[in-house]
Amino acid sequence: MTIARLLALKGRRVLVVDAERRQTKVRLELLAPAARRTIAALGLEPLLLDKAVARSCLGIHRPGTQSEYEDFLMHPDHMGYVVDRAQFDARLRAAAIKAGVEILSLRVTGVAADGNALYVRTAAGSLGSLPVNGIVIDATGRTAAIARRNGARIIFRDRMVAELLTEEHDRRKGPATDDAPSWLVYQGTASDWSYRIAGPSGRVQTWHISPAEVRLGNSTCRVDASAAILSHAAGNRWIAIGDAAMAFDPIASQGLFNALSSSLTAAGLLLSDEGLSPRTAGAWSDAVAATFLQTEVGRTAIPNHSSYIHVKAPGTKSAPLCLE
Ligand SMILES: Cc1cc2nc3c(=O)[nH]c(=O)nc-3n(C[C@H](O)[C@H](O)[C@H](O)COP(=O)(O)OP(=O)(O)OC[C@H]3O[C@@H](n4cnc5c(N)ncnc54)[C@H](O)[C@@H]3O)c2cc1C
Repeated sequence: MTIARLLALKGRRVLVVDAERRQTKVRLELLAPAARRTIAALGLEPLLLDKAVARSCLGIHRPGTQSEYEDFLMHPDHMGYVVDRAQFDARLRAAAIKAGVEILSLRVTGVAADGNALYVRTAAGSLGSLPVNGIVIDATGRTAAIARRNGARIIFRDRMVAELLTEEHDRRKGPATDDAPSWLVYQGTASDWSYRIAGPSGRVQTWHISPAEVRLGNSTCRVDASAAILSHAAGNRWIAIGDAAMAFDPIASQGLFNALSSSLTAAGLLLSDEGLSPRTAGAWSDAVAATFLQTEVGRTAIPNHSSYIHVKAPGTKSAPLCLE
């Protein structure tokens, strides 16, 4: 919705085909302080001031024998935000429609090039193929549905799952303080970790992240949380952004930020004089790989997260790149 809105604001005709999977919608997610500049560049700052959408986050608390506080006040941008994804996404959708974006609630089932036209097949029997004269943007999240149909492979750094353990409504201090700035509480071991996140309107969730083979059995929601990257993130008339291009585990708190920032930079690329060419497609893939590796290096600074970082560099067949 974000890249669609940006392109529409610049006069492009944009059609969003969205299967409207609701998986993401239950989640509370952290936007780390560094995301504020991207949010500002996108003109979305009012969203962070809307109490139905976002709640200020003071930082990350790691209790234990050596209780640690990562205080966001020490960051250049001072404050993070916990966003309610259902509310956040609804606002992005409304802004896209206001900018002139057309939206079809359909699932993409295939993409095929035919002469000068690109056909995007959808699950709607009656509608069939949609001729597309321009560029297809893959923003389908971790499934990378379009990129994979164009020959890209998903390279997994690890296979993790996230399980929602509890969903509560915190009213201990009364409704008036439901929106007071909160801490994200994180606890980790060498192989798994959990966090408690407090969002708008007193919603509090506890998530557990572990290797995919572990199943706690008492969760109400279980979703893929693997870190992964595409073998190449752009090609002939297609480009992947957000989780479709690279996905992070939730503890990195980079996914939503990356979805927004890659929308901004991909819009810049598509609107440039050169547009999407073999050269810029290659540069985009390189930039995605560099961002992924940079984020993985950053994760080694998180306690208990340095032990298993082992990334195969995109495009390499052997000699994996070890980040430890
Ligand atoms: C448990 C958990 C917690 C997380 N917490 C955080 C956090 O605290 N902070 C953070 O920054 N990130 C977090 N993330 C990551 C964040 O949710 C993602 O990075 C972000 O949602 C990516 O946005 P996206 O738009 O690229 O993809 P998505 O939000 O996954 O959107 C993909 C869209 O594509 C549509 N779609 C998929 N396939 C098709 C198809 N074939 N045809 C048509 N439409 C299709 C879907 O309906 C959906 O609307 C978390 C992830 C998990 C799993």
